[in-house]
Amino acid sequence: MAKKQFKAESKRLLDMMINSIYTHKEIFLRELISNASDAMDKLYFKSMQENLGITRDNLEIFLTVDRENRVITIKDNGIGMNKEELENNLGVIAQSGSFKFKQENTDTDKDEVDVIGQFGVGFYSAFMVAKKVVVETKKYGEETAYRWESEGVDGYTVKETEKDDYGTLITLYIKDNTEEEDYDDFTMEYKIRGLVSKYSDYIRYPIKMNVSHSHLKEGTEDEYETHTHLETLNSMVPIWKKNKSELTDEQYNEFYKEKFMDFADPAIRIHSRTEGTATYNALLFIPSRAPFDYYSKEYEKGLQLYSSGVLIMDKCSDLLPDYFSFVKGLVDSEDLSLNISREMLQHDRQLKLIAKSIERTIRNELKKTLTNDREKYEAFWKNFGLQIKYGLYNNYGMDKENLKDLLLFYSSAEKKLTTLSEYVTRMKEGQEIIYFASGESVAKIDSLPQTEMLKEKGYEILYLTDNVDEFALQMLVEYEGKEFKSVQSSDVDFETEEEKAKKKETLEQNRDMLEEMKKALGDKVADVRISARLRSHPVCLTSDGAFSLEMEKILGSMPDAGQNKPKADKVLEINANHAIFEKLRFLCDNDKEKLAVYADILFTQAMLIEGMAIEDPVDYCNKVCGLM
Ligand code: ADP
Repeated sequence: MAKKQFKAESKRLLDMMINSIYTHKEIFLRELISNASDAMDKLYFKSMQENLGITRDNLEIFLTVDRENRVITIKDNGIGMNKEELENNLGVIAQSGSFKFKQENTDTDKDEVDVIGQFGVGFYSAFMVAKKVVVETKKYGEETAYRWESEGVDGYTVKETEKDDYGTLITLYIKDNTEEEDYDDFTMEYKIRGLVSKYSDYIRYPIKMNVSHSHLKEGTEDEYETHTHLETLNSMVPIWKKNKSELTDEQYNEFYKEKFMDFADPAIRIHSRTEGTATYNALLFIPSRAPFDYYSKEYEKGLQLYSSGVLIMDKCSDLLPDYFSFVKGLVDSEDLSLNISREMLQHDRQLKLIAKSIERTIRNELKKTLTNDREKYEAFWKNFGLQIKYGLYNNYGMDKENLKDLLLFYSSAEKKLTTLSEYVTRMKEGQEIIYFASGESVAKIDSLPQTEMLKEKGYEILYLTDNVDEFALQMLVEYEGKEFKSVQSSDVDFETEEEKAKKKETLEQNRDMLEEMKKALGDKVADVRISARLRSHPVCLTSDGAFSLEMEKILGSMPDAGQNKPKADKVLEINANHAIFEKLRFLCDNDKEKLAVYADILFTQAMLIEGMAIEDPVDYCNKVCGLM
């Protein structure tokens, strides 16, 4: 079920990406600045670990704008790249055809989607505004510098070059205007300054530029003179260190989209400062849709981890439990040492405290959303509910107490999603059981014979449509003292005394017939019984014991289930008020052979209604044809 989503999801992602690219060309600058900042983070981190003596004051980004020649440059003194890294990091994109793909904007081949997924918009976005891009770079500690040059579609070249200091210089030759597109903005100093403060204000290194100011020449009335001076364009305060009141939704959303490569605004945001046993700032987001690879094994969970503003790990998986793996964001703590290695970090007591506190924060936020904004929560549930249900089932139900109040299931009575607690408040007087039924879709479950009588008697049933649902409820065992029970299990008891007495009587009179049918069906069934739950259908299947029909179906559909797939103990229930019952009675008294054929046909029909695979379809068809 999750896999099928994949293709459609990545296609949608792609469409969105193209749209966002074509309407938001200006993001190229934040992408390049962000790469520069990452490169300086890497160098700073290396310096901390190896005592290279590089301090934050040594690191800066420098921009130039040359309006006449339509050239802008972005320079950093970060870690730089060697030849191999240049080829691997920047080469593949121009080579891969993904560039061409975006230009043509038509083909939606899966291979190309993957390429984009792998590389993000990133560096590549430079080609949205530049006809030619030159990257000159020298890796820290190495001798040779390299020059990478590309005009996009035709591929790229890499040559040795001269460069005095380490780091990277990117030169963009801005495109000429066309009839539809005007690129002049990107050659204007004021525009570039504006883009920096819009998208890159929080970058923790100074972004400097020579800015020109014109003013009236002293002693004249119409002569101007221009001065330039070096300005730092960004405030450098990371967004998560700012006060909530200083920030707008737009700023948060832009930050999220840039940092976590999404094209849509996040659905839920948590910005918190925690003090006490663990002291940290956290900025967390829940995406408004599942990333296209979310339910695949490629997806990697984790939060960015900062120690006093310095990035020490890009995806710290220990900060998130698996059931909240969809959360994106970052944590910045003063409690962690900068020099800590990954292995040490795993055992760090402080990190464990932070993780625990973060789990609680996310859980509370979800509960708050569930209470205050049901629509938003249901949208969340549609994306990530499956993960929560898996979480409840995993680790032997270790986290079930934390997660049970986040669950939603479809309710037969409300005709929409409901929480377990809501179900319990609606329970009938004397009702001790939370009923559920499993199947492929709400519509299919709703038409199951087993749900008919229960609904008629006014009981509410939870309809379970995901494979994991029944396992999760079984793990939960009960909710507020109320046990869960499948309406498809044989021992659901909801008959009145009168009905029970009547059933007993029918049973006494037909024991021989039921025995006969059971004999005919052999090991296909555990028993054949008179049903109390059927209204209009002649037969249905239920199961004895904990291994349910649904579980047989799920395990049966797994490719590695092997030869000896476990089977539910099936019970064929017969409706004593149905016309066919008379016929069976008649056959039992007059034609036992034919009764056996009828038993088999009815059993197969019950299997079909249940959506289960039948063993011998040809035999079934022959039997029906024989009767016809
Ligand atoms: P992303 O940043 O998402 O990894 P990009 O396409 O933006 O994707 O960049 C690809 C890679 O190229 C980066 O991961 C980084 O290793 C390298 N890179 C890009 N810009 C720079 C830079 N200014 N200095 C050093 N390395 C860089």
